[in-house]
Amino acid sequence: MSAKPPLQLQVTDHRRDSAGFTYVYPVVSRRAGGVSVGINLNPNNACNWRCIYCQVPDLKRGAAPELDLAQLRGELVAMLDDIVNGDFMQTRVPENARRLNDIAFSGNGEPTSSHQFPAVVQLVGEVLAQFGLAGKIRLVLISNGSLMHREEIRQALQALAQSGGEVWFKLDRAPADGFSEVNQVAMSRSGVAKRLAAACAACPTWLQTCMFALDGKLPAEAEVDAYLGFVAGQLAAGVRLQGVLLYGLARPSLQEEAPRLSAAPADWMASLARRIEALGLAVRLSL
Ligand code: SF4
Repeated sequence: MSAKPPLQLQVTDHRRDSAGFTYVYPVVSRRAGGVSVGINLNPNNACNWRCIYCQVPDLKRGAAPELDLAQLRGELVAMLDDIVNGDFMQTRVPENARRLNDIAFSGNGEPTSSHQFPAVVQLVGEVLAQFGLAGKIRLVLISNGSLMHREEIRQALQALAQSGGEVWFKLDRAPADGFSEVNQVAMSRSGVAKRLAAACAACPTWLQTCMFALDGKLPAEAEVDAYLGFVAGQLAAGVRLQGVLLYGLARPSLQEEAPRLSAAPADWMASLARRIEALGLAVRLSL
């Protein structure tokens, strides 16, 4: 009887259950350029935002559930053991991506909505040390930034920074006082600025910006100007940004607005990248 060949992960494959775990999942990330080990603090598919391009299935409003930290630790140890000592790379990863890039606090919702997020940061640091990987593997917090003004999150970000970590802070459009159609949440300009400044002060922080056409229309010039103006204003105010991760629609939205969304042309995205660079920021563009 011949066994099925093990599944190879593809760059589009971000399924959270590909390792059969609850909290820990491997992905080949086009953004990271190799294997990223994700830690999903929201296995309940709950987020405090509802971005119209969100790829989380059955997304609902809410916070992370109570996490079983012993299970999370066990899953991370097993995953890293398979990567470092086992045949994970040979059997599951395309040859050109056999590199462990980072550990990402990410998943199916907002990671910092877990009251256990600080404990998870500490836990991950301990497990990396156990494998001799501390300081060698990048740690990334992928966040919508909405809770970064909280003291316990600020302290966790400082701990993340001490472990060589960085924050990817979501900023899709210039925040205006009111409701954001893209993120389906109420926000204020000063509130976003305060959270961004708090993140940047605690940990190296990149903006992550998703641009796309809605109902066949690209973001209007005024909208793009407002975005650039907001970023420039933060820089002028002394907020130290690392740069901008600018990306298009990599994978289909799983929200009801999905049919209304389409990718922006590559030259439009490249032109926007140049305008951001003109502010003095590094840009990593992913289409
Ligand atoms: S913040 Fe992230 S997880 Fe939450 S709705 Fe937006 S894209 Fe989805």
